[in-house]
Formats: sequence, structure tokens, C-alpha cells
Amino acid sequence: MSRIVVLGGAESGVGAAVLAKVKGFDVFLSDRGKIADHYADMLRKWDIPFEQGQHSEELILNADEVVKSPGIPATAPIVKKLEGNGTHIISEIEFAGRYDTAKKICITGSNGKTTTTSLIYYLLQQAGLNVGLGGNIGKSYAYQVATENFDYYVLEISSFQLDNAYEFHPDIAIITNITPDHLDRYEYNMENYVKSKFRITQNLRPEDCFIFDSDDAITIGHLDNIIVHAKMLPFTQQKKVSQGAYIEDDKIILKYEESESEIYLKELALGGKHNIYNSMAAALAAKATGIDDKTIRESLSSFEAIEHRLEPVLSIKDVLYINDSKATNVDAAWYALECQTKPVVWIVGGTDKGNDYSVLNDLVRDKVKAIVCMGVDNSKIHAAFEGIVGAENMVDTLSADEAVKVSSKLAAPGDVVLLSPCCASFDLFTCYEDRGEKFKEAVRKL
Ligand code: ADP
Repeated sequence: MSRIVVLGGAESGVGAAVLAKVKGFDVFLSDRGKIADHYADMLRKWDIPFEQGQHSEELILNADEVVKSPGIPATAPIVKKLEGNGTHIISEIEFAGRYDTAKKICITGSNGKTTTTSLIYYLLQQAGLNVGLGGNIGKSYAYQVATENFDYYVLEISSFQLDNAYEFHPDIAIITNITPDHLDRYEYNMENYVKSKFRITQNLRPEDCFIFDSDDAITIGHLDNIIVHAKMLPFTQQKKVSQGAYIEDDKIILKYEESESEIYLKELALGGKHNIYNSMAAALAAKATGIDDKTIRESLSSFEAIEHRLEPVLSIKDVLYINDSKATNVDAAWYALECQTKPVVWIVGGTDKGNDYSVLNDLVRDKVKAIVCMGVDNSKIHAAFEGIVGAENMVDTLSADEAVKVSSKLAAPGDVVLLSPCCASFDLFTCYEDRGEKFKEAVRKL
């Protein structure tokens, strides 16, 4: 019996271990940290041997193949050792893809993955298809392959999952856009990061589709150097295209093979320029799946905002509070500010990822009346914006409660208080969800 060792005992690792078990492998899971109780329970329930708090080499190096969780960097000593031994290391999606005959729509990119993935899932559901949602959202793909029987999957895929994917084959691949993020995992080399995203296209076939943002200079630049063997479906807000999606007057025009259809921008449920891109990508994926125009139009207009992404929380004394806690990089915050039409009290800050804030200067000048910094070290934010909004309009805070209280004092009726932090959340919160929840709680308390 062949031996599969899974490294990492969270959603993706446990899912892969369950699938390996179901497929009759001798399986072992190892996590150097602590495994959360519900995952440990799940491993026991499936009778899968595991260890935590260490990597025992004698139980790992004898693997025929290793499934590495995306959170474990390629530089981890155990990974290096396995590589040195010539052991094949794959990601969970690579492993699960071997046992799955469903049609797969796979979404990667720097920003907009979750939104686009959720939109497409909703569209396929509304069309009555038997569809699963997975990858970085909800239950792992591998777990679902082990326990479900879907005809379609919509999968959000990170570059870390793609790094160890070799034969994995999407039927429709989407790159939402590419902007600098997670460069710490790519030796601070943008090209490595771009190549990693583009691995989603490596096994496409002529009958498959590749959907991409042709306004994105990095994506287009890379496409100049490679050949993608698929139907190319660009989406753009800047020009017309013969196949794909573009804007004409107040409509999105969709062109797929012989068919042409339109969607009024005012009917889209999700606001903001970035969500026009996301909606175009989702509509193209739906078209390529054979979903009728009416369902596409209606679904894009009935979709409900997702938590922590430009999520309207409450309006208090005519001040609207918006939770965009998921904006963990500058580009995401750019789009959040871009779509504001009222004066903004902007809550920003957290763990800086080497941000260059200067791209926000014009938007801050036009839209932001005050800045509430919410982070342990706010020096870069002060340096970036004091010259624009004035030092007297910048306040430092150390909790969501404090930030919301201060913001409520700075805001006048008709203003917006926008949490769109540009930064990771780990200095004051456990994760971006925690930050968003605390923000919403604080707003409700006002
Ligand atoms: P991801 O899953 O890639 O992190 P999300 O859909 O969760 O993307 O959105 C993350 C953040 O980026 C949110 O603040 C959201 O408002 C913003 N965003 C969403 N779509 C886009 C886009 N196409 N371009 C830039 N920013 C976006």
C-alpha cells in the first residue's frame, strides 16, 4: 500500500488526509504546531494516525508522496529534506483533482478571488446546477471530493496551492488581477509571484477558457511571454473586445462565441469599479458554462454583499459605517476609496506588508476628511498622509472600539466611516474576520 503523508492539520490538510483514507492509502498527518480540536476529532473519527507539535522524520521521510498544506513554506526544513530525498510534494488541489471528474471553475488573483468565486457559485446555484464551493472558502476541495458528488466545482485557489500543482486541470481558469501581495513568500520577487498565479493556466486545453483582466498591465505583460492553450476571454473597462466582456455606455457587453448579451451596470448588486470587474469575470464564467442570459442578469443583481468586503454595517445619525476589513493590501483599499461618493473618515492600519501608500494620495486628497489609525505602529501612515489631510486630522487608536468612537466624533451627518485597513490584522486581532467582527460590534454599541 502506498504511503501518503500530509503536512499541516488544518482545513486543507485534514481534507487531503480524509481523501487519502477513502482512497485506501496508508496515510499519516503531521503538524509542527497545535491542531485545532475539531480537526483532531475529525482525524480520530476517520481513524487517521497523526502527530502534532513535531515532525517525526521516521514517520514522514518514508512517504511515497507528500501533500503539503499551503501555509507551510517551501523553505521549511522538513520540506527541504523531503525534496533532498526526491519525494514528490503536491498540494491538496493537485491530490484531489486526481479523483474528481467534475467540471472545475478555478479562480486565483491578488484581489477579488472570494468575491468572484462567491458570485460564480451563486450563479451556478441559481441556474440549478449541482455545484460545490471550495478551495480557500468553506470546506476543503479534497474533503468534498471524498464525501460529495458534485457535477461542478467553483474553487478559490491561492498561489500557494498552485505552487505544488502539476497536472491539476481547470475547465475554466480565472486570474482576477495581479498586484504585489505575499511577496515575502516569493523571495520578494514579483516575477515568481506572477508565474505562480499563472500556473492555473498551465494545463488548459483548447476547449477550456481563460478569463483575465486585460486592463491589468502585469497580467497582459506576462501573457506576451507565454502561450495559453484556451479560449481567451478578457474583461476590460477600457476598450472593446471581440470575445470577452467590456463596457459600452451604462452596460456590460458580454461576447462569448456567437452570442452577445448585455447587463446594465445599475442592476449589479455589488457597487464599485472593482466589482464591475468581478461581475464581468463571473458573467463570462457563467456564459462559458452555458447559463442563460436571464439567469446571469438576475443573479448578478440579487447577490448579497459578502461579509468584511465593503459590507455596509449600519447608518447612525446619518453616518454610514462600512466594514472592508478584508482590504489587507493597498490595491484593495484603493478600490474601496475609489467608490466612495461621500466624505470619508478612514480607519486604516495594522501590520504593514511593505506598503507603498503613495498610490492612494489622489484619492485621499479628494475623499478623506480624517484618518483614524488603528495599529500598533502607525508611523508609515502618518508619514504618508499628514501632508495631505493635516496632522490635526489624524488620530491614533489601539482597538476597534476606540477607533469607532473616535470616528463617530469626527464624522458629520452625510459622511462615511470606512474601515479599509490596507494592512494585515495580526498586530491587534487574530485575523481579518476578527477585526471586522470587532468593528461591527463597536458600531452596534454606538
Ligand atoms: P481575495 O479573496 O482575493 O482576498 P476578496 O473578494 O475577499 O478578494 O476582496 C478582498 C479585498 O479586495 C476587499 O477589500 C475588496 O473590496 C477588494 N476587492 C475585491 N475585488 C477586487 C478587485 N477586482 N480589485 C481590487 N480590489 C478588489
